[in-house]
Amino acid sequence: MLAKDLGVSLDERGYIQVDRQQATNIPGAFAAGDITNATELKQFITSASEGSIAAQSAYNYLHSLHGGYR
Ligand SMILES: Cc1cc2nc3c(=O)[nH]c(=O)nc-3n(C[C@H](O)[C@H](O)[C@H](O)COP(=O)(O)OP(=O)(O)OC[C@H]3O[C@@H](n4cnc5c(N)ncnc54)[C@H](O)[C@@H]3O)c2cc1C
Repeated sequence: MLAKDLGVSLDERGYIQVDRQQATNIPGAFAAGDITNATELKQFITSASEGSIAAQSAYNYLHSLHGGYR
């Protein structure tokens, strides 16, 4: 599993641990959907919501590197 290979932390049930920005413990690695511990409700709409937040977080992370892209 990619997450394990990266050293991403899993919870006791095997879900990827994320914070409110869908960030994992590995800088630059974000996760969304059924695979995370973000919510107990595993549905299309919650996965899409997490995906949207993760995408924005990834953008912000990349933008923060080297002062952002110009
Ligand atoms: C039978 C069933 C009925 C459901 N009905 C509903 C419903 O009516 N309404 C609702 O809102 N939700 C429903 N759900 C839940 C919904 O399907 C999930 O919450 C949603 O699909 C999660 O999206 P996801 O992108 O997180 O994961 P997934 O949709 O599971 O997508 C993960 C993708 O990653 C791929 N993948 C896995 N491992 C790897 C790998 N190593 N490398 C590359 N790709 C990989 C998989 O093949 C898959 O395509 C249902 C679920 C099931 C099982």
